[in-house]
Amino acid sequence: MCGIFAYTGSSGKDASKILLDGLVSLEYRGYDSAGIFTPESGSVKTPGAVAELKKKVPKKFNGKSGIAHLRWATHGEPTEVNAHPHSDGSGELWIVHNGIIENFKELKDKLTKKGHTFRSSTDTEVLAHLVEEYLKTEKNFEKAALAALNDVRGTYGIALQYKGEPDKIIAARMGSPIVLGLGDGEHFIASDPSPILPHTKKVVFLEDGDVAIITPDGHTIQKLDSSSVKRETTEIDWSAEEVQKGGYQHFMLKEIMEGPEVIENTLRGRLIAQTGMAKLGGLEAVAEELSQIERIIIVACGSAHIAGLIGEYMIEEFAGIPVEVEHASEFRYRSPVLNQRTALIAISQSGETLDTLEAVREGKRRGALTLGIVNAVGSTIARETDAGVYNHAGPEVSVASTKALISELVALTLLTIFLGRQRGMSEKTAQEIALALKELPNKVQHILGSSKEIEKLATKYASMRDFIFIGRKYNYPVAFEGALKLKEISYIHAEGYGAGEMKHGPIAMIDENFPTFAIVPKDSVYEKNVSNIHEIKARKGPVIALATEGDNEIAKLADDVIYVPQTLEMLSPILNVVPLQLFAYYFAREKGLNPDRPRNLAKSVTVE
Ligand code: GLU
Repeated sequence: MCGIFAYTGSSGKDASKILLDGLVSLEYRGYDSAGIFTPESGSVKTPGAVAELKKKVPKKFNGKSGIAHLRWATHGEPTEVNAHPHSDGSGELWIVHNGIIENFKELKDKLTKKGHTFRSSTDTEVLAHLVEEYLKTEKNFEKAALAALNDVRGTYGIALQYKGEPDKIIAARMGSPIVLGLGDGEHFIASDPSPILPHTKKVVFLEDGDVAIITPDGHTIQKLDSSSVKRETTEIDWSAEEVQKGGYQHFMLKEIMEGPEVIENTLRGRLIAQTGMAKLGGLEAVAEELSQIERIIIVACGSAHIAGLIGEYMIEEFAGIPVEVEHASEFRYRSPVLNQRTALIAISQSGETLDTLEAVREGKRRGALTLGIVNAVGSTIARETDAGVYNHAGPEVSVASTKALISELVALTLLTIFLGRQRGMSEKTAQEIALALKELPNKVQHILGSSKEIEKLATKYASMRDFIFIGRKYNYPVAFEGALKLKEISYIHAEGYGAGEMKHGPIAMIDENFPTFAIVPKDSVYEKNVSNIHEIKARKGPVIALATEGDNEIAKLADDVIYVPQTLEMLSPILNVVPLQLFAYYFAREKGLNPDRPRNLAKSVTVE
C-alpha cells in the first residue's frame, strides 16, 4: 500500500503546493519515504513522511503539473534512492507506483541486456525503463505506456508523466486503487479521494485494466487492449477522514475487512501450485543453511506470538522440525541454549518491537541463524536478521492487530511448505496446502459477509464482565487471540484456554454469567471439544460456538453459533480469527469505546 497523488492544471496554480498538501491526507497509507516530481523543477525525495519532504523541497520548486508519492516499501529498503518518483534512464519519464510488479526481475534482466542501468532496488523503476524502451519504437507516450503495461504481471496503481508532454498524466489500475478527480481546468489522480476533496467532489473510480489520461481540460479512459471505455462520475460527500477509513467507522474494522486482499498480497508470486513449492526470495541466500536446521525457536509478542504458536504446530507436523515459541521478553533474560543448527524466527508487524529485536540480538550472540517475519520493509528487525519473509499486509493503523496476524499466518504457512519440501514433504501434500491457501480469500470474504450477525451477538453479550475462549490443537492459540482482542479494546476480563484444560481449574468459574466462546471446527479434535462444551453446559455456562458450516448438531448444544467455511485443519486459524476480531470490535463499539485508541496501549512497542 502507498499513496499516489498527481495534478495537472491550466490556471497557473502551484502544483507542488497542491501535491504536498494533498499527500498529508494519504499518510495513513504509508510513510517510510516520500517524493515529488514536476517537469519544471525535477524531483525531490526523502526517507520519512511528508513533513520531511516539505523541509527538503526548495522555495523555488514549482510547476503546473506533477506527481507525488508516499511509500510503503515492498521491494528495496526505504532509502532516498528507492523513494518514488522513479525515472527512466533519460530522466524524461517519471512514475509513481502502488503495488508489486511480480515479473520485475525478468523484465530487469531483459532491459539490462539492452543497456539499461538501474539506480534503485525497487520493482517500480523497471516500469519506467520499460516505457522508455517502447517509446523508442512507438514514438508515442500513450502507446508506449500501454505496451509496457501489457508486459507487466502483478498489481499496480500508477501515475506516469513524460517531460515531452508535461500537461498530460497517465494513470492505470490493476489491483491497487486509483481515482480521478475532475475539476474546472484541473484534473487529479490519487489512491483515494481524500487529497482531491478540497478541490472537487467529482471523481471517477478506475477499474482493473483501465488506463486513463488526464489533461487540465479532461480525461479519457481505455482498456489495456486500447478499446475505449466510459466510467461513471461520482459526487463524493464523505469527509477526508471517512475516505481514509474507506467509509468504515474505524480503522480496525477497515483492516479486518481487508483480510481477503491481505492474503492475496502475502501469497502473491510466492506459491507455485503446480509443483507445490513456495518461492520465498528473502530465504534464497540461506536455503542451504535452512536445510540443515535441527531446531527452531520463534520469538514474538502479543498477536505475533499467537501466530508463532500456530506456526509451531504447522512446522512440526509438516516439516518435522522441533519448534519452541517464546515471548521475546522472556527469551532475552534467561540462558537459552542455541547453536548453529538453530534458527531463531522473529515475528513483528512493525519490525521495531524492542523485546523481539533484543531477542534477535541475543540469538545472534548465541550463534543461531536469525530470520524475520516482518511487515515493515527495511525496519530494524528486517535489517538485523540474516534473512526473512515480508508479510506485505500494508500499513496497519489500528493498535489492535488484525490483518497483520492473518498475513503472519499465511507467511508461516509458506515457510512450512518451504521447509517441508526441503525435508521430504510430498508434492501432493504441498499442492493440497497450496490449493487450500488460494481458496482462503473467498472464504474470508464469505465470513465478512456475516458481520451483521456477529454484531448482533456482540450486542447480546455486551453486558458480560468475563469471557473464556477455548480451543484445541491448531485452534488452541486462536482462543488466546479471541481473549487478547477482547481485553485490548473492551477492557473485559477474558482468558484463552486449551479446551482440555477447563476441568483442571477454569471450569470452577463457570456459571450463567460467565460465557464461553468455544472454537470447535469439524477437525480431528471435534469430538473432544464437544465433550468439553457439554461439561460447560452442565454448569449452566452460556456458550457461543465457532463452528464449521453444515454442523447442525452444534446448534442444539450451544446457545449461539457462528459458522465459518471448511478448510484444512492447519489453515482453520486463518478463518477463525476473523469472527473473533469482529466480535471484539463490535463488543467494544457497543460499550461506547473507540477500538482504534485503546487506553494504555501503543501500536509499536519500542520500550521494554
Ligand atoms: N513496490 C513498490 C516499492 O516497493 C511500491 C510499494 C508501494 O505500494 O508503496 O517501491
